[in-house]
Amino acid sequence: MTPRTPTQGSTREEPLLEVENLRTSFPTDRGDVTAVDGISFGVDTGEIFGIVGESGSGKSVTALSILGLAADGEVEADAIRFRGEELSTREMSAVRGGEISMIFQDPMSSLNPVMTVGEQIAEVVRHHGEVGESTGILSELRRKYVTGTSDSSRSWQRAVELLDTVGIPDPEQRANEYPHQLSGGMKQRVMIAQALAGDPSLIIADEPTTALDVTIEAQILNELFELRDEFGVSIVLITHDLAVVRETCDRVAVMYAGELMETARTETLFDEPTHPYTKGLLRSIPRVDDDREWLNAIDGTVPDPFNRPSGCPFRDRCDAAFELCSEPLDRYDATGTDHEVRCHLQHDAVDIDDGEPVVEGSLHSRLDGTETEPLDERSGVVEPGGERQ
Ligand code: ADP
Ligand code: MG
Repeated sequence: MTPRTPTQGSTREEPLLEVENLRTSFPTDRGDVTAVDGISFGVDTGEIFGIVGESGSGKSVTALSILGLAADGEVEADAIRFRGEELSTREMSAVRGGEISMIFQDPMSSLNPVMTVGEQIAEVVRHHGEVGESTGILSELRRKYVTGTSDSSRSWQRAVELLDTVGIPDPEQRANEYPHQLSGGMKQRVMIAQALAGDPSLIIADEPTTALDVTIEAQILNELFELRDEFGVSIVLITHDLAVVRETCDRVAVMYAGELMETARTETLFDEPTHPYTKGLLRSIPRVDDDREWLNAIDGTVPDPFNRPSGCPFRDRCDAAFELCSEPLDRYDATGTDHEVRCHLQHDAVDIDDGEPVVEGSLHSRLDGTETEPLDERSGVVEPGGERQ
């Protein structure tokens, strides 16, 4: 098990979306908040990729940063590639709403309350689809305030079709209704229809079912599934709910304090969780009829975003923490290229002896200060005197 750079040795085909070393911070009066701290992942064509993490772990900021929407944040990345092409933030804005679309947690924040839902979807169809209808500002204003989109136009028909696709009954009639006339589940479906209107290859869904009851949630998740199966759409599904991940995702990344602690195929993550944080989470999955905070099983709290510890952000809460944990983290392959873990327990030079991590002699001497060789090419020189946690 050796550290590797994000793109080396991958057995998968070139991902549709590739994010390398994304870092986002927000300057505030109290100093910089590091919301995302060097995350890397790829999403394949037709894949449902989950990002799971407790509230405040940086999931939404990740999505917004990729889409160039983290307005007041400072976003840096070694690369964000879509279809193998590196995109600047400005180019990202151009694919947004078309090839890449986003579904937000709260439909009311992104649906226009004074336009019918059909109108809102038809507008996206015109702008990103190929229906050949004028999208000039005067035409759009006239539609918006005077005529409405004609029922016989292709953009309107497509809007109705999309409402039908996402399982809205009576789509012709519903298309003429305003958001407030629809239930929460219907509004969320309208959002999905709107996201589909630009014929996207990738949908980033940020907690799309959090505000819904369990039955509607299951229906919406099923809808997303079918989109993938029918249209080969890739989906990044952001959630705090491990049960949703288990039922929906092909692969999943576990996010903690702005970092991805473990990335694996879903069944691998659930069958062989490797990071101590993931293990803790899996122990804490609440039963369906139990709404306890999901993190109760892990003592302690997330690190202060203004004052992040060196090394592993989980080390203060980790039962398995040992002397290496204050050193800079790298990603390690746990069982192959599809299973990556950011935990020093995975380092080549660490053995588990009687349940306790033991660092091999040579590495020990480096940490003692008698040798200052790099741990590996990427993580640079290890400072002497790493403290025992
Ligand atoms: P999640 O979606 O996982 O619940 P977020 O991505 O929304 O978490 O937030 C991650 C961290 O970034 C939090 O500590 C949050 O307070 C901080 N954050 C998000 N947006 C801003 C902002 N605009 N200004 C300052 N801090 C922010
Ligand atoms: Mg969020």
